[in-house]
Amino acid sequence: MKVIKNYINGQLINPVFDKHLENVDPSRGKVYSTIPDSTAEDVQLAVDAAEKAFYGWANTSKEKRSAILMKMAQLVEDRLDIFAEAESLDNGKPVSLAKAVDIPRAVSNLRFFATGILHFASESHYMESEGVNYTTRKPIGIVGCISPWNLPLYLFTWKIAPALAAGNCVIAKPSEITPMTAYMLSEICLEAGLPAGVFNIVHGLGHKVGDAMSRHPKIKAISFTGGTKTGEIISSIAAPMFKKLSLELGGKNPNIIFADCDFEDALSTTMRSSFANQGQICLCGSRIFIERPIYEKFKTAFVEKTKKSKVSFPSDPEAKLGAVVSQSHMEKILSYIQLAKEEGGTVLTGGQRVILEGEYKDGYYLQPTIIEGLSYDCRVNQEEIFGPVVTITPFDTEEEALMMANSTQFGLAATVWTTNLKKAHRVADNLQSGIVWLNSWLVRDLRTPFGGVKASGVGREGGFEALRFFTEAKNVFVKS
Ligand code: NDP
Repeated sequence: MKVIKNYINGQLINPVFDKHLENVDPSRGKVYSTIPDSTAEDVQLAVDAAEKAFYGWANTSKEKRSAILMKMAQLVEDRLDIFAEAESLDNGKPVSLAKAVDIPRAVSNLRFFATGILHFASESHYMESEGVNYTTRKPIGIVGCISPWNLPLYLFTWKIAPALAAGNCVIAKPSEITPMTAYMLSEICLEAGLPAGVFNIVHGLGHKVGDAMSRHPKIKAISFTGGTKTGEIISSIAAPMFKKLSLELGGKNPNIIFADCDFEDALSTTMRSSFANQGQICLCGSRIFIERPIYEKFKTAFVEKTKKSKVSFPSDPEAKLGAVVSQSHMEKILSYIQLAKEEGGTVLTGGQRVILEGEYKDGYYLQPTIIEGLSYDCRVNQEEIFGPVVTITPFDTEEEALMMANSTQFGLAATVWTTNLKKAHRVADNLQSGIVWLNSWLVRDLRTPFGGVKASGVGREGGFEALRFFTEAKNVFVKS
């Protein structure tokens, strides 16, 4: 059985108290590796190492930092297949998805910020008769990155790459549910020549390791992606310590489909935005509002296509959906399907666990599920489910669609389908959302600001926003 270790001070080591947790393969429902059950003592070791490394790393030229990150990207890319298979085994997602999306995107994240730092210029503001201001941007020091299980290496690198590129020393905690590819990345750091202590990975539970990171006075910033409740807990600890916080939290994203849309495009993209990664992407659209003239037509076609979506073991090349991430998550999703029935909804397709054969018989598989007949303000339409479950609801006017779309506490992403350009812009403008896709979904340009409003988060990641977050600005005025 593979034994995952912490990566501290350039070494792969066991946790101080030598306690370990089991890591489950969700496609088989079986333990297949162990991971450190680290504590505040391990976080302290990482902080000590990072503190020693900081001066050297912050004063390493950005060209050198960039070259090391580029090497890391290359090493991951060279092992793309091995990383993709490991990601799929850890998370349950189809191998084809990990190969096409997760690992290539992790490589892009590393490359993007490796090169981005070379273009990250400081500003100056000239005052005609008084003088000039120039603004320096220095690394913060030791920063913490806490990431979730749904896109493990993809979101892990999305945080650590800008933090390292900007000259910080990093302490990172991947989700304890999907630690494998972060562990594999630590092996790569050694090969890429990252100096000891610059980057440290402490594996373990959120309420132990994540909590110790949030509380540690020497960790000056926390970049967190995960659930809204966890974001609240982290803020309550870190905000009174005046730590910089970037919080990318939950969503309950609306898809608004107008009758004048490109029907086939809207339908096939809605299939992806509903069920990609078993619906476990924070950007998935889970509330689908359809203008009444095409409601029945869309519903029939959507249900028909969904019934044909194959749920299978991750290495099946025909699998459209793999396993959801854990037994407890599967049970949570099933409990929301039950709640939908209690709230008066009708399950049009899906709604059940799928039992596969042979070695996969204990895996956590669910049918893609479509529910109709729920009010926009019921719990199923207001709370994040984070699984392959969507609701469909008809609407009669643009105002009604907007009212329902904006009715949740969340505001991460939205999609709008219409061929009317003015309407598209108007609706995008009125959506309470950090990200809007018009006639598309999940088209990502890493330069754009990424993040949510309301309970979906605080701050923005991506492009120079991330480099600004991971640096402190200082303005210096020079009298002329
Ligand atoms: P969680 O909030 O449960 O966990 C996220 C990370 O935080 C994990 O590493 C977790 O560790 C850790 N953690 C848990 N408790 C604490 C704590 N008290 N202090 C510090 N860290 C803690 O989220 P999930 O992993 O379940 O991820 C799913 C959620 O992430 C969904 O709500 C989804 O919407 C959101 N998400 C948001 C995105 C965005 O960009 N806005 C993108 C992707 C996902 P452990 O694994 O041990 O619990």
